[in-house]
Amino acid sequence: MAWFGRLRKPGPSRIPLASNEPIERWQRRVAEAGLRLVEIKKNNQGAVYQVLAGEDPARAKDFLRKEPIDKELYYIIVETPDGNWGTDIKGLFLERLRPWQMDTANTDCQGAISGMIDMNQSIRAAARGVTDNFVVEVCCGRCGHEWIDGIRYRNLTVVRCPTCEARNLIDSDGYTFAEYDY
Ligand SMILES: [Zn+2]
Repeated sequence: MAWFGRLRKPGPSRIPLASNEPIERWQRRVAEAGLRLVEIKKNNQGAVYQVLAGEDPARAKDFLRKEPIDKELYYIIVETPDGNWGTDIKGLFLERLRPWQMDTANTDCQGAISGMIDMNQSIRAAARGVTDNFVVEVCCGRCGHEWIDGIRYRNLTVVRCPTCEARNLIDSDGYTFAEYDY
């Protein structure tokens, strides 16, 4: 009863105000990542796209990996000079590769896949041919820098090191997606 009494205490504090706090927190995160809102759009299937833009792909990817999405058909996309990166319920993805990334005869060094991210979910769509890439951590063969990038499934891809700008050739032939029934 004491608790109830406290809630009913008269005064301005008992009037609940509609809070913009989640929106303001989100706006702060966007600004701190050096991003700006382009638009929020909805398609006929009910999918919602929150489209942002930013100049720094590494910061965009960091931002996206810290924005967990818990519902289907909800996407955050960041347009960067390094392609459109996004996240959905399955984690980080790159919308599509650029044409120069298929020019495998024109490279500076051999890079390597150094790690998997986000439970490696993007490889499934790439294996089915739904997307033209899956997302991994790669390592520059020239300077050793590691970063996240999209590569083709069981194929060669050119990725550019954000530190030394070397065009690295990545071979994903050893990475096969297998579907298991549990
Ligand atoms: Zn490098």
